[in-house]
Amino acid sequence: MHILHLTKRRKNAGLWILILAMVIGSSSWLKAAQPPNFIVVFCDDLGYGDLGCFGHPTIKTPNLDQMAREGMRWLQFYAAAEVCTPSRAALMTGRLPPRTGMCSNNRRVLFQDSQGGLQGSEITLAEMLRDAGYRTACVGKWHLGHHPQFLPTSHGFDSYFGIPYSNDMDRVAEAPKGATAIFEPRSSYFNVPLMRDTAVVERPADQTTLTRRYTEAALEFIQRPSNKPFFLYLAQTMPHVPLFRSPEFEGHSLRGLYGDVVEEVDWSVGQILSVLRETGQAENTCVVFTSDNGPWLSQKSHGGSAGLLREGKGTTWEGGMREPTIMWWPEHIPANTSTAALGCTTDLMATFAALTGAKLPTDRTLDSFDLSPVMLGQPATPRQEMYYYRGFELMAVRNGPWKVHYQIQGSYGTEPRQLTKCEPPELYHLENDPSERYNLSAEHPEILTQISQLVATHQAHMQPAPSQLE
Ligand code: MG
Repeated sequence: MHILHLTKRRKNAGLWILILAMVIGSSSWLKAAQPPNFIVVFCDDLGYGDLGCFGHPTIKTPNLDQMAREGMRWLQFYAAAEVCTPSRAALMTGRLPPRTGMCSNNRRVLFQDSQGGLQGSEITLAEMLRDAGYRTACVGKWHLGHHPQFLPTSHGFDSYFGIPYSNDMDRVAEAPKGATAIFEPRSSYFNVPLMRDTAVVERPADQTTLTRRYTEAALEFIQRPSNKPFFLYLAQTMPHVPLFRSPEFEGHSLRGLYGDVVEEVDWSVGQILSVLRETGQAENTCVVFTSDNGPWLSQKSHGGSAGLLREGKGTTWEGGMREPTIMWWPEHIPANTSTAALGCTTDLMATFAALTGAKLPTDRTLDSFDLSPVMLGQPATPRQEMYYYRGFELMAVRNGPWKVHYQIQGSYGTEPRQLTKCEPPELYHLENDPSERYNLSAEHPEILTQISQLVATHQAHMQPAPSQLE
């Protein structure tokens, strides 16, 4: 009896080993075991209020709305700076701009005559994932240095297709003076190069084709046969002024040219999600959609809207840095949800590391929190604080619902024109007052004291690098 029993157990064990081998051998198991693909769609100057699913009344974004229904909207997600270059450097390194020197109090961003860029000593998101076995591509606007040693292919990307700095730079002498070149734009007014890897393939770039050609490049990369997971950084040039769209999107939107442009970006997202579904990669691809900074309000109807948030690009008011953010990963991120948990683009580094087992750099300070518990639907608040920098200046600090402004400066042409200390600091409760209207510093001195202690600790660990922008 005893021997019989043992034999039966051995037989059972054999059966289990067989089943396990079959499961391991099946492609679905392998697919589940493979780390996820990542796509980061990073818009330029898109405002918090510019999507249908974030409340815009006349810009139609059916694809992003569907992405939100199938995924998670982040209602308090931030770019790490209020203008392009520092914001992009922070996303790429998981570090606040002063730590990498990718900011300046004088020149806000890199220009076509700049000599600097993101230093080779920095470790990028692409390098981290490539070391973990990923194939990587950068498509779109880079703006972290246009000299060869600073381009995406020197920073962990296997390939690059896009423009190396903003689409309003390098204006030619023949272009109309003043705002006309922006408000009645032609590609020929801006001598912006379109690059493939390190070579210029078109100059000036035909800007009416950029959203479409970026999308084609993205789809080609996604569909390329490979047994490696992938990371695609798709940094849309739009809706940064001058605004351009394909002929198919002319007169597409009730919101005019700006709406046409956002609706083409929405189309692009729809193409990408469709191809992921069609190729069976949807459940294994995490897509993050967000933007680098708030709307450029001084561009009037050519700039976007921060919705109920105060101010826009160039300021550390909420409208300058809080972004309409959607995360999508079917069967992992719970569908049709939203979160008020705080998040920041610098967090993608720790989050992607946690989801893949990739190794985070340990020899430097990161400003990166693992947001994956929130993404996976757990009640978690990994990030409690936000530090709002303008150049090297710490302007404001958020702790939980409270935000203190120590200094303020208007965006482009708004008051105050100069950096102005707030004495006493201004205090807003962002959950009660997301529009930052009601200064509560007199009522809550204890909050000011509490946050000033956080600032002291933060500043004790802040070692700014020399500016790479000057
Ligand atoms: Mg921007």
